Amino acid sequence: MKYMPSIDIDLDKHYNATVVIACEKCGHENRHHLKSLALAPDQHLTCQCGADISLGAQAIMQAQQRVSELRTSYGV
Ligand SMILES: [Zn+2]
Repeated sequence: MKYMPSIDIDLDKHYNATVVIACEKCGHENRHHLKSLALAPDQHLTCQCGADISLGAQAIMQAQQRVSELRTSYGV
């Protein structure tokens, strides 16, 4: 089974979602816009230390799910 990186969701003041991917090797937090990730779910992402932090389509779907839950809780 593919390693699933631990991710966090940030919403900016315009409610644009940023996915924060914590690198398991160096702990660096890599920030990517969810929109651009969702456009290319199989794109290869690399941390600054060279570790593979790619998200699969499944992880991106989970992220989108969390974003809609966050938006609901903000009432937007
Ligand atoms: Zn790293």
